[in-house]
Amino acid sequence: MTDLRYARPEQRPATPEPVAIPIVETRELSRDYEMPGGAVHALADINLRIGRGQLVALRGRSGSGKTTFLSLIGALDRPTHGSVSVDGLAVSEVPEGKLIDFRRRNIGFVFQAFGLMPILSAAENVEVPLRLVRAEPRERDRRVRELLELVGLGDRINHRPHELSGGEQQRVAVARALANRPSLLLADEPTGQLDSQTGRAIMVLLQHLIKTEGVTAIVATHDPTLIDLADRVIELGDGRVVSDSGA
Ligand code: ADP
Ligand code: MG
Repeated sequence: MTDLRYARPEQRPATPEPVAIPIVETRELSRDYEMPGGAVHALADINLRIGRGQLVALRGRSGSGKTTFLSLIGALDRPTHGSVSVDGLAVSEVPEGKLIDFRRRNIGFVFQAFGLMPILSAAENVEVPLRLVRAEPRERDRRVRELLELVGLGDRINHRPHELSGGEQQRVAVARALANRPSLLLADEPTGQLDSQTGRAIMVLLQHLIKTEGVTAIVATHDPTLIDLADRVIELGDGRVVSDSGA
């Protein structure tokens, strides 16, 4: 359509280059815990931009702030100071009521202890997030089957969690986290309960999913053998970034 503010096309200002919005951007992100013995600075002044389509490893000793960082990005917790945006939305400022739907549709979570519902089959576990957003039954079935095949469990769809190995349970949890095609996958020590070979297979799977599902994954891990699979390694120490291969 003609822009009536400009008499001639050559007077129109040049269209600005589209600016890629980072999937995650933090500004002075900080989280203190007030404790009887004084404040604990779990996270202090984190400034990071994370691009799309990457496998980012978040490393650091126990207590360095990894879980706190993932909780703030996933809007499960609020910063004491600073802000965090996910996909351009300032999640640290959005009221809780609006966050529930945003989280369901845009962020997938994977935890160390798998967190599957014990009475549900693999397929039913993967289906839960699809039910929460009221996906059509036929689309639910299609997506569940597609995801379980994607994680290599096409022949385990009716197994309950206790009928699966630890590595298989974590694959179900990864499939569940991806159900609603989130733009961001947050995994907190997802290989912590697995032997090193199985843990590596999970990381290789995540690497593959970034390409096939177009998701960005941030994975907290203190397993040094998994670090080489990451596109970027961010190391935390005492709540601060001590090194960043992508800086
Ligand atoms: P990591 O996941 O790297 O092990 P955390 O993010 O869990 O580290 O913890 C970072 C720091 O914050 C630690 O010193 C921890 O003791 C403290 N911390 C975490 N959660 C709480 C809490 N709910 N109350 C008080 N201190 C906490
Ligand atoms: Mg932790």
